[in-house]
Amino acid sequence: MTLSNNTEGATGQVWFVGAGPGDPELITVKGQRLLRQAGAVLYAGSLVNEAATLYAPATCLVRDSKDMTLEEITGWLIEQARQHKTVVRLQTGDPGLYGALVEMVQPLDAAGIPWAVVPGVSSAMASAAAAGETLTLPEVTQTVILTRVAGRTPMPAGEDLESLASHHTTLCIFLSITLLSDVQRALLAAGWDEEAPILVVQKASWPHEEKIVRGTLKDIREKCRAEKINSQAMIIASPALGARHWPEIRHSKLYDAGFSHRFRKAVKP
Ligand code: SAH
Repeated sequence: MTLSNNTEGATGQVWFVGAGPGDPELITVKGQRLLRQAGAVLYAGSLVNEAATLYAPATCLVRDSKDMTLEEITGWLIEQARQHKTVVRLQTGDPGLYGALVEMVQPLDAAGIPWAVVPGVSSAMASAAAAGETLTLPEVTQTVILTRVAGRTPMPAGEDLESLASHHTTLCIFLSITLLSDVQRALLAAGWDEEAPILVVQKASWPHEEKIVRGTLKDIREKCRAEKINSQAMIIASPALGARHWPEIRHSKLYDAGFSHRFRKAVKP
């Protein structure tokens, strides 16, 4: 009997594991451990780098879900959980963001299969990291909005990009690279300058495939077209973009010599 084999009649557990943005080293230690002990792994083929499945043992059943319907996916997970102690559904980035988590777990609940989620590094964070950017900066922006524009999935009332952009905070825009003209229109309508910096990162963290494009609200679409970027890309609009080159920035209070906190007393000037 191998470690992953279930005892007869018992039920295993399905783990929704965030694979991270693509670099196999960006999965969590826990996610990696679960893959190593998995009896079956179902990965989201369109985005998760197959390399993440490298961690699964040779005896593990590994399957790509790209041609499966929701019913097939949940049916497969239920069937595998009846045979293996550990079943992993490997998802891109973090499973709680645009990951269809609820529609997958409801049938598991109905079938009495236990499940749990292991968070992952979202592509929003990986994209900022790839470009050496911060998503928050003191007195510039202290808020990050994770959103998308309406495609086939409509946006709920009050969440259209123009309304969200009117706060002039950092915006990480998922699933919208083919809708860059909608993004441009919404930000301009919300009062963003056409010279405002915009960052697009395709395949953030993917070894040898990552592309970083910097432009302005006005020219980013053209630049992405020139780079043939039309999928798997994050759009970041933020008043903090490019701050590493600013001559002066407001420093975080945390490291300010004149600021006391739990671990350090302020130095009197
Ligand atoms: N759960 C994922 C998001 C899934 S939705 C996460 O937390 O990242 C798919 C969208 O995520 C893509 O359209 C793209 O906007 C973004 N995305 C996923 N992986 C990416 C990557 N490596 N680089 C840039 N964007 C990525």
